[in-house]
Amino acid sequence: MIQINPPKYVRQILFGLQARGHLAYLVGGCVRDVIMDMTPQDWDICTSALPEEVMELFPGSKPTGLKHGTVTVTVGSRSAEVTTFRTEGDYRDHRRPDSVTFVSDLITDLGRRDFTINAIALSVDGMISDPYDGVKDIQKRVIRCVGDPKLRFTEDALRMFRALRFSARLGFTIEYDTCEAINDCAPLAAELAPERVRDETEKILLTSRPETIGAAISFGLMKRYISGTGWKSPNFADIAAMPRKALSRWVAFAIMLRKYGYIPSAHDFLAELRLDGRTIRCCADAEQMLSAELPEDTLGWKKLLNRYGVDSVSCAVQASTVILGVDREKELKAVLKSGECFSLKHLAVTGDDLLSLGLKGPDLGEMLKFLLEYVMEYPDNNKREILLELAKYSEES
Ligand code: ATP
Ligand code: MG
Repeated sequence: MIQINPPKYVRQILFGLQARGHLAYLVGGCVRDVIMDMTPQDWDICTSALPEEVMELFPGSKPTGLKHGTVTVTVGSRSAEVTTFRTEGDYRDHRRPDSVTFVSDLITDLGRRDFTINAIALSVDGMISDPYDGVKDIQKRVIRCVGDPKLRFTEDALRMFRALRFSARLGFTIEYDTCEAINDCAPLAAELAPERVRDETEKILLTSRPETIGAAISFGLMKRYISGTGWKSPNFADIAAMPRKALSRWVAFAIMLRKYGYIPSAHDFLAELRLDGRTIRCCADAEQMLSAELPEDTLGWKKLLNRYGVDSVSCAVQASTVILGVDREKELKAVLKSGECFSLKHLAVTGDDLLSLGLKGPDLGEMLKFLLEYVMEYPDNNKREILLELAKYSEES
């Protein structure tokens, strides 16, 4: 018996299903985390109830993945995913099952799950169902496929990334046959949608073992995006020194790949992986900044901040420390903390002020630019009266 203490809303869902005569268990990551004495991030429930029965029982629940039997049940302000026991048909595209069949028994459902450590179910009174010895594998700190690893990776190539992700997150080793199967099945990863590869890569980069992404590259899981072999192996472990934020970690990862010749362009690499515009822009900016010397004085920093924005400059400076070993973080922090103006947002006059002086169109834009440059050089003069005087004087002369 395992002591569990799920939050009240989770117990309400489990009891609600049981009261109607359905089977209902906690399953997947939350069970793994409870056994490891970790706090679960979310609580997944599996049940013999059909999706429409779950929806009827919990009004306001949403059919978030009805095709796969998943309903998001909300109790108060909290929600949990409730998935009907299921088995899966063939996976002809190595990505998604051709069909899904709902079943009434838990063991069949556990058999379609990816790894033994994720194929453990727990009833609300602490009874455990562990047909694939997942608890033993948790104790041995091993990631092992449920069933034949080659078959499981051929069904769904994303599982290879998931194996590496769990290994990175939990510090587990990947069992020999599972590892061999990743080696053999790696080319199938090329068929995965870029968004899914992006999401898994990001999760790996955000762990405390981002170097695991190096294993994904060595296995060939990212060949579609990283075709070069590079002239030196980057130390991906250094990425852990970047803030635990997706933006920072992607920027460091892409710049490292580019620096060591793995990819011809960080911008194209991130765009192919469907990263958002902000990440792509910050990365391109950071690359450009790092190709020159970082500023030597406050004015230089302010000009850089004005041109690229705080996000990009911060990323560039973090990457400089981590990748180039040149630490300029204190200087940047001091400039940011000083509150000195480097953008129109903080200029003591606005476009409206200049309009009232009779300026308009391109002249107004030019004047704002001039005043901002002036204020960056003379920060103490960022005062409305001084700047209006200056604008008037410059206009007249
Ligand atoms: P996390 O803590 O990151 O949420 P998790 O184990 O809960 O980890 P999820 O992606 O939330 O992972 O999936 C929930 C469960 O669904 C997994 O534990 C696993 O049993 C099953 N699962 C998810 N994706 C797959 C897959 N691609 N193939 C097989 N089973 C999967
Ligand atoms: Mg989960």
